[in-house]
Amino acid sequence: MPISNMKYPEVKNYFGGKFFPGTTKKYLDVISPLDGSLLSKVPLSSKEDLNHAVEAARAAFLKWSKTSIKERVQVFYRYKALLEKHTLELALLIQEENGKTLDEARAEVEKSVELTEFACSLPNWTGGEILEVSKGVECRSDYYPVGVVACITPFNFPGMVPNWTIPNAIVLGNTMILKPSESVPLSAVRIAELLKEAGLPDGVFNIVNGDREIVEAICDHPGIEAVSFVGSTTVAKIVYARASSNFKRVLALGGAKNHLIVLPDAHPSMTAGNVAVSMSGCAGQRCMAASVMVAVGDTDHIIDQICAEARKIIPGQNLGPVISAEAKKRIERYITEAEKQGATILVDGRNAIVQGKEQGFYVGPTVIDNVTPTMSVATDEIFGPVLSIIRVKDIDEALAIENANPYGNAAAIFTQSGGMAKYVIDRADAGMIGVNIGVPVPREPFSFGGWNDSKFGVGDLTGKSSINFWTKLKKTTTKWNPEAKTNWMS
Ligand code: NAD
Repeated sequence: MPISNMKYPEVKNYFGGKFFPGTTKKYLDVISPLDGSLLSKVPLSSKEDLNHAVEAARAAFLKWSKTSIKERVQVFYRYKALLEKHTLELALLIQEENGKTLDEARAEVEKSVELTEFACSLPNWTGGEILEVSKGVECRSDYYPVGVVACITPFNFPGMVPNWTIPNAIVLGNTMILKPSESVPLSAVRIAELLKEAGLPDGVFNIVNGDREIVEAICDHPGIEAVSFVGSTTVAKIVYARASSNFKRVLALGGAKNHLIVLPDAHPSMTAGNVAVSMSGCAGQRCMAASVMVAVGDTDHIIDQICAEARKIIPGQNLGPVISAEAKKRIERYITEAEKQGATILVDGRNAIVQGKEQGFYVGPTVIDNVTPTMSVATDEIFGPVLSIIRVKDIDEALAIENANPYGNAAAIFTQSGGMAKYVIDRADAGMIGVNIGVPVPREPFSFGGWNDSKFGVGDLTGKSSINFWTKLKKTTTKWNPEAKTNWMS
């Protein structure tokens, strides 16, 4: 398709408060999953582009890190107001580049507002501590910013995942380089513009676009102190190993395979509604999506309702497309493979076509019954609107299946028994647990982060727990009075 047909101008890098074309001849098309149309093209930036961004971020750090947190936070009060003012515009852009429904895109902006609200509360969480440890001798601790931090983000939340890190890291005094997903680079441009409008000094926030090559350059760059990553487990492991081998602080969030355990006593309509929305929301492209339902005992009455709910989810209406033609093919391949292996397709989302959007990448909601634990639909992250049902006889068998999966992002239990819920909470090997909740995303000030192959590094990326990742703690011991009581320590 000729470039003149692009809806938006070519995406640029952003550093020192200005947009610059990449110093590269390599570009990728940015395609809207809604209808396959060409939105823009994105540069696969070079190391030289990264150097410019790091220089800008290092220069800005000198002043920004010395600005008081009370002052830094003012920028984010204004940023929050701008996110609210531009919610619809931002949601439409997210929808265009990612494909999710307008309601889902709007929720992403609303969550970004909540993340920013939390960042605005950080002065109240980061006061440090002071104690007179012996007569006339005081110890105090203070949070210091880490320096230049780089954040690498995935395609599935073009607005929210960058905002997991931007407000907290910057309010805590760091300067930042964002490397957005090359599939959805447009929202980041608007984020940069809104941060500037909110009064963020030039160089505090920067963007370098690209793919694998620029991520590797980030991991190797001596001017970057910390790296956060959100994406697939394969790449999370690469980034964690490479950046930490260069002695950087790293937190790398990976993929997921979330199990929902459903007991026969679960509330039928509440459970069915939650499970259907969890597996199909954002076209199943959420790291918190339900992927496997472990049905304990006789749950046919609930499964029937789940299928009825799934049939109400219509591609192009209340279900967006998946990100690419390749993703659609991959998801449909998984469904066909399960069918060949003897699973029962209760609701079939293959070959979905939306009239007027025939070039879009739609997959309808799919429910597969009689899945066995070794089938690929039970073991692999499919990242599409597909629910695999494994039937078991009791709760321990269900937990054994849940805990045998290498990931550990989310798990949920659906029951009306508090005792059974507690049994699962105590034993499920996952970082975020839902009780009668299909997408158990913790809300601020609670932090977001899984376990096992869903996260590499210590602590979480958002909420209160992120303070330790974005700061260094300085411990100062003070004595002014020569007569102060001294002991073996002082
Ligand atoms: P991805 O791993 O393909 O890409 C993520 C980022 O890594 C992108 O910016 C991309 O440019 C870069 N990248 C891709 N391949 C690379 C390579 N070989 N070397 C270095 N960098 C590389 O992930 P995606 O497809 O954009 O996103 C979907 C994945 O993200 C799913 O696995 C999903 O579960 C996961 N995810 C996890 C969380 C979480 O909180 N755990 C949140 C959102 C998404």
